Amino acid sequence: MSVEQVECIVAGAGVIGLAVARQLAQAGREVILVEAADRIGSGTSSRNSEVIHAGIYYAPGSLMARLCVEGRILLYDYCRERGIGHRQCGKLIVATSAAELAHLPTIAARAAENGVTDLRQISAADARGLEPALATTGALLSPSTGIIDSHAYMTSLLGDAENAGAVLALNSPVERGKVTPGGIVVDVGGTDPMRLACRLFVNAAGLAAPGLARRIEGMPQALVPREFYAKGDYFSHVGKQPFSRLIYPVPVKGGLGIHLTLDMAGQARFGPDIEWVEALNYDVDPEKSASFYAGVRRYYPDLKDGALVPAYSGIRPKIVPPDVAIQDFVLQGPGAHGVPGLINLFGIESPGLTASLALAKRVTEI
Ligand SMILES: Cc1cc2nc3c(=O)[nH]c(=O)nc-3n(C[C@H](O)[C@H](O)[C@H](O)COP(=O)(O)OP(=O)(O)OC[C@H]3O[C@@H](n4cnc5c(N)ncnc54)[C@H](O)[C@@H]3O)c2cc1C
Repeated sequence: MSVEQVECIVAGAGVIGLAVARQLAQAGREVILVEAADRIGSGTSSRNSEVIHAGIYYAPGSLMARLCVEGRILLYDYCRERGIGHRQCGKLIVATSAAELAHLPTIAARAAENGVTDLRQISAADARGLEPALATTGALLSPSTGIIDSHAYMTSLLGDAENAGAVLALNSPVERGKVTPGGIVVDVGGTDPMRLACRLFVNAAGLAAPGLARRIEGMPQALVPREFYAKGDYFSHVGKQPFSRLIYPVPVKGGLGIHLTLDMAGQARFGPDIEWVEALNYDVDPEKSASFYAGVRRYYPDLKDGALVPAYSGIRPKIVPPDVAIQDFVLQGPGAHGVPGLINLFGIESPGLTASLALAKRVTEI
């Protein structure tokens, strides 16, 4: 098989691979973006809450915290410039007990450490003034949280990348790679198999990124994290939409609790919950509705029986097991693994969508 030489290959056309390909192409690099599926953004990037996060909960100093805050500012600017559907609707973090109320200042303090300085604690009466259907003992208002039409955003990123000369190859799974003195050689399968050699290979394969890194001969295997999958199911709300902002309970151990988000059409959905699974499976279990009703009714007691219907699910690309609470984004370049021209992106779970533009900048800096 002949080997075609390209400067940069980005594997995976989710929101991260698209943002990286755009950034590299706009910096004047020759880029080919190879995607296993038959369209862009069909993985985790299509299975999330489409929330532009403020950057409240992440460990101060972590990549998640820094890239979320930086990425959120870049993303709002980008949406405004490009006319991408978005709405800075704000969010309420609602306490439903005295203990939760006492915890709100801790959340606000962590947010401030992360550079999110616009959180404001409001009384139960003020919260109900904003959202009359709420049951709460007090809340934090986050004005900089919003929602985005993530598909319009990804289409726009692709347009930018292609305008700057990047080429997208669909139905093109990277099967394996090999580190050679001249760069990285990769075998791409699919309908039109090819062998490509590149000076920079960015592994942005999302849930499949650790598996792909393991198939690169010359990549130190001890540095490839084990993958874990944390599934999150969503239920849609039928009937009149009860809220105009995003509503989050005070976080529970291991997750954010069953929260309410809205899409750009105004459809309310509840979730995601968290369930550690062994294999990728996107079915939503209708039996879960009991725990969803219970979780939601803590802050929305008027939720009617029959108002929740199973919607969709997403899977968080975890690289730590359930008993390890904290995970950060891993942007693993030559400084970490010693292989010139290889960047692995591991564990890019939430807030990856919000952070995408900042994360792409960081990749080009590496
Ligand atoms: C339930 C849930 C809710 C979330 N909510 C939010 C939110 O509200 N706000 C937010 O900011 N973030 C959110 N996130 C995080 C966000 O969705 C992800 O960080 C982001 O979508 C990850 O994008 P990605 O490009 O890394 O992965 P993906 O979108 O999964 O893209 C990876 C791509 O790689 C392709 N691929 C796989 N293997 C290969 C291969 N061998 N060769 C070529 N291509 C390959 C796949 O087909 C896929 O298209 C959420 C995540 C989950 C799971």
